[in-house]
Amino acid sequence: MRLRTLEMALEGLEGFGRPDPRFEQYSTPAVLAARLLHHAHLLGDIEGKAVCDLGCGTGVLACGAALLGAERVAGVELDQEALAVARRNAAHLEAEIELVLGDVRDRSLIEGLGTFDTVVMNPPFGAQDPHADRPFVDAALALAPVVYGIFNTGSIPFLGAYTAGRAEIEFAIGGIFPLKRTFAFHRRDVVEIEVEIVRIRRL
Ligand code: SAH
Repeated sequence: MRLRTLEMALEGLEGFGRPDPRFEQYSTPAVLAARLLHHAHLLGDIEGKAVCDLGCGTGVLACGAALLGAERVAGVELDQEALAVARRNAAHLEAEIELVLGDVRDRSLIEGLGTFDTVVMNPPFGAQDPHADRPFVDAALALAPVVYGIFNTGSIPFLGAYTAGRAEIEFAIGGIFPLKRTFAFHRRDVVEIEVEIVRIRRL
């Protein structure tokens, strides 16, 4: 599937109904989600593979992985309303996805999911809780040997230090995350956040 075709399929998906600022619920923009998945696909990490989306929200990454031919796709999300949106999005695309209600910090839940080839994720950027992405990195490395994540630009030194001895940060592609005015505390209509798509490989 061409990058633009994937982008268009993901652009048509439903976003968060009532986003909750505590959980930093921003749908991953289709362009960014497609770029992450396309790269992962080119490197052989999606087609025929078991892929898990952590903090799957509305399911954009999970749905995209299914469209690109992943053999098994699971999404973990703690918000029931977001999962309902993900379920509708998967049905709309006729994508088969296991949706799991739960917290990525719950070790027994993570262990119970089994193992995956690849994790894709857009964890909270840490605007509410500066360390919110750490449990995502831990869960991801427990689940799969290869992880693709979207992080704030400038996170690489942190990621390197945090995963030292456990994983290697393989590369980063830059991108822009246009955050639309979502919450009352946002003062501008759109704020562009610079992000990096990072590939992390377990050692
Ligand atoms: N890629 C998704 C959402 C990214 S926003 C989309 O495009 O819709 C981050 C998501 O992580 C939110 O849906 C939020 O509810 C979820 N989340 C935050 N903390 C979590 C945790 N500890 N466990 C599981 N999900 C979590």
